[in-house]
Amino acid sequence: MPQNYDAIVIGAGVMGASIAFHLAERGLKSVILERKQVGFGATGSSSGLVRMHYDLQVESHLAWTSFQYFRNWRERVGGECGFTRTGFLHIEPEKHTPQLRANVEMQKKLGIPTEVISGADVKKIAPSFFTDDISFAAYEPESGYADATLTANSFLSAAKELGATFVQDCEVTAVIVSAGKINGVQTTRGEFSAPIVINAAGAWSGMIGEMAGVKIPLTTWTHDVVHMRRPDVVGEHPTVIDSSLGMYFRPDSGNLTLVALEDDSRIGESPNAELGYVAKDFVDRTVERICMRIPGMEQGSLHSSHVGRDGLTPDQRAIIGQAGLQGFYLVTGFSGTGFKISPSIGLCVSELIVDGKSKSVDISGFDPMRFERGEHLKGENDYGFIWRNSLS
Ligand SMILES: Cc1cc2nc3c(=O)[nH]c(=O)nc-3n(C[C@H](O)[C@H](O)[C@H](O)COP(=O)(O)OP(=O)(O)OC[C@H]3O[C@@H](n4cnc5c(N)ncnc54)[C@H](O)[C@@H]3O)c2cc1C
Repeated sequence: MPQNYDAIVIGAGVMGASIAFHLAERGLKSVILERKQVGFGATGSSSGLVRMHYDLQVESHLAWTSFQYFRNWRERVGGECGFTRTGFLHIEPEKHTPQLRANVEMQKKLGIPTEVISGADVKKIAPSFFTDDISFAAYEPESGYADATLTANSFLSAAKELGATFVQDCEVTAVIVSAGKINGVQTTRGEFSAPIVINAAGAWSGMIGEMAGVKIPLTTWTHDVVHMRRPDVVGEHPTVIDSSLGMYFRPDSGNLTLVALEDDSRIGESPNAELGYVAKDFVDRTVERICMRIPGMEQGSLHSSHVGRDGLTPDQRAIIGQAGLQGFYLVTGFSGTGFKISPSIGLCVSELIVDGKSKSVDISGFDPMRFERGEHLKGENDYGFIWRNSLS
């Protein structure tokens, strides 16, 4: 006999967990089905940056709405998310200064604490940085990073307290359809039935889509990350996206600095391919770049490295909405930037499902059908793609 629920969430990454939590708050009885365990996918390897600076207003809005959770986690969700306030700097190449200014103005209108600061101000905030090449940067004093696995686990625990069921080691193998409507799923642990199925399977979402006869324009993005030991001479530093040098970095506990590159990810690997090791020259390239921004890191040393994978869409922006069949929802394609918006995505998806429309933030622009219409999401004050094959 199938087990009956109001909704089935496929995938216990941070998105599936957040959706389950928010659906439970709205009184829906849901089950979260996970092939392996919580955080097995992108969530478990996320760098966890929490910032509001985007060039697309709706993404800043989602990040700002989510920030109200991160800074108030215990009261809003319960448990821990590991949010650490470090301050955040967004550095763009000089040619993007007009966009940087316009984006900061857009973010201020949303209520986000942010400002444009000079290179001299950057030096005051981060004395160990080389700043001669920086005329301006965007600064968010409240931002930082959090722990994505903790975040997913907290959402899941809170969802379970509100009545949700979590089944791990449970792989969805087929989608059950009747009269053009979704009816449930087949899994390695039997059949589950519900009129709503949410595909939050990250890099594997395309496979779930195929089971429902829905083609999702999704490839994969495989991303290398390194942790370096920070020498005393460097001291504390903020979280930084440094697009002029094509990298991002942030402090981590134990005097470590996490660094990754914007132009070094592998596109199109199989979602099931072994994550293996970072690319051959990745560590050398990363050390070279971090030493350009923080010369004192020359005295640092390699601590560890890891690889993670997320789903990537043609415009490097999420796919959210009902697709193909009544009751089949896609919440996927977060393109390496989804963690920080996971709280508001869960909130908005629960509104979309329960109320027919998301009210907290209008997410209709992430419509899965936009690619068929030839529409791509693009920043109002566009910086171009974050993930690219070379620096330009
Ligand atoms: C290395 C790396 C660094 C990142 N850094 C940042 C960052 O600094 N800031 C930021 O905001 N974002 C960052 N991201 C992006 C962010 O982590 C992801 O967008 C987010 O974690 C995606 O969550 P998800 O729940 O959609 O997917 P996932 O975490 O991938 O979860 C999907 C789950 O679905 C399960 N699943 C798949 N198929 C099935 C099936 N058939 N049946 C049942 N379960 C199934 C998988 O096992 C998996 O657990 C980074 C991502 C990576 C990889």
